[in-house]
Formats: sequence, C-alpha cells, structure tokens
Amino acid sequence: MSKPIFCIDIGGTAVKLGLVDDKGAVVAHAEQSVSFDGYRTPILDTVLRAAEEFLSHQQAMPADLAGIGVSATGQVDCRRGVVVGTGGNLPGWLDAPIAQRLREAFGLPVTVANDANCMCLGETWAGAAVGYTDVIGVTLGTGVGGGVLTGGRLLEGARGLGGELGHMMLHARDGIACGCGQRGCWERYASVTALVGRARALDASLTDGRRIFQAAAEQREDVLALLDDWMSEIAEGLIGLTHLFNPQVILIGGGVSGQQKLLIEPLRDKIRAGVMPAFAKGLEVRAAQLQNHAGLVGAAYYFLLHM
Ligand SMILES: [Zn+2]
Repeated sequence: MSKPIFCIDIGGTAVKLGLVDDKGAVVAHAEQSVSFDGYRTPILDTVLRAAEEFLSHQQAMPADLAGIGVSATGQVDCRRGVVVGTGGNLPGWLDAPIAQRLREAFGLPVTVANDANCMCLGETWAGAAVGYTDVIGVTLGTGVGGGVLTGGRLLEGARGLGGELGHMMLHARDGIACGCGQRGCWERYASVTALVGRARALDASLTDGRRIFQAAAEQREDVLALLDDWMSEIAEGLIGLTHLFNPQVILIGGGVSGQQKLLIEPLRDKIRAGVMPAFAKGLEVRAAQLQNHAGLVGAAYYFLLHM
C-alpha cells in the first residue's frame, strides 16, 4: 500500500485532521477547536500545533506520509497556498501562509484548496458523485459553499478562487447586505442561517435547522410555507447554475442534507421544473455522502491530482 496523505480541513470553528489512503478512505481522524480563545491564538498556529499532536499520537513520522493536503475555509490562492480573502471576518486568517508554514514544519509537499471545492472533488472520488464528470456541489450552512466540476475538472479559475457560488448576486438591487461587502448574495437567502433568521421571526423557539425540520415534519403550516419559500431561493440559484454548466448531478451537503423528504425531493422537483426541458433530462439531485469527512477526502484527492 502506498503512503497515506496527511489531510487537514481548516474551518472557521474547528480543524479536522486525518490520514487518507489512496482510495479515499479516512483511516484515522481527530478534531480540535480553532476558536477556543476567541481567536487570540492565530488559527494557523493552532493548526500547526494540532498537526504535530495528531502525528505524534498516530506515531507517524513525515517520512511515513505522501504529503499534506489542506482544505481551507476562505478564498485560497491554490497556486501559492495562501488565504487571499475571507468574505467575512475570521480574525488573523487573511494572508495566512498555509502551504509555506506546513512545508517548513514537516518538510513535505503541500497542496491547499478551498473547502467547498474540496467537498465537490471528494464526492466525485469517493462519495455521491463517483463516475460523474459534471457536478455542482453546494453546502448549505452558515453560508452557501460551492464547487463545480466541469468535464471532469474542478473549476478553479485563474487563482483557485472560482466556484464561490454563495456570492452570486441574485437580489442585487434591493438585497440583504452580505459579509462580503455586497448586497443580495445568494447565501443571504439560501443558507441555513437565512432559514433560521426567518423562522425565528415566526417562532422564537425555532433556533436551528433541526428544530425547523422537526416542526415541518409535524405539518406546521407556517413552517412548511417558509421552508417551501426557502427551497425556492435555493432552486433559483441552482437553476441558473444548471443552465451555465449542464451538470449530470447536483449534490446538496451540510447538516440539513439528510432531510430527503422535506428537502432533497422537493428541491429536485423545483429544479427539474424550473430548467429548460433539455437540461432536466437525466439531471440528478441528491444528498452529498461524505459529510464530516468531505474536506479531508477532497483535500487528499486534490493532493493526488496535483502532485
Ligand atoms: Zn456576498
């Protein structure tokens, strides 16, 4: 068996670490907070310490590893492995030289890519889109993350920043202000944060996605109507993207994506009904599979494709 890839998935609240084999299986993993002291310790310092601890716990030496694959939140210049934008405020994250610090610490080759792009890539390697060449992946959460695979290649653009689907401006003229500085970005309407914000205005006890879907499962009319409207916002973006990229499959990720009857199926109906007929032919809409491991698996695949 070839050497495993040391994978690090850096999010806004936690860092996940894992060893991933060349088939996409996560053979060991751990997780640590990066926000434990309100970010007084810079995220990258926490990541380096967590990486050293993880490897010593695994009794793994750098020589036992193929290299390091990183999935990171924010806009990542994947040619240099540096964070060049955060689209919000994550203290100390802008300009973080991820690749350089890890290379210096471990003496291994390092690749870095955006977390939502990694999710899309990981799912095509070892998840819900194996065998597909044209895939749109969206992660519904605090924001809307996205990735696009077209003709078998990850769409990265000139610097690796491509696929930032959540900041498509769908309501630009009269839209809600977004953390990125613009107005009317898709994620202000299609994220779980947006759903929760509207649900709380209906009922203060609806404080998270789980409670909202629970109320919908109990057939609460006002919640069902809200959910339907929220899914129309999600569908609106995905219909436009389908016309742009003609995907074979659209993957829905994030904590709410396990809601087959209340989310995946009605969303599939809305998208198929909203696109031009030729685009609907054979179009699949399904839940992502890798969930918590999507970033690690995608980072490993990105590493294998680029090393
Ligand atoms: Zn935005």
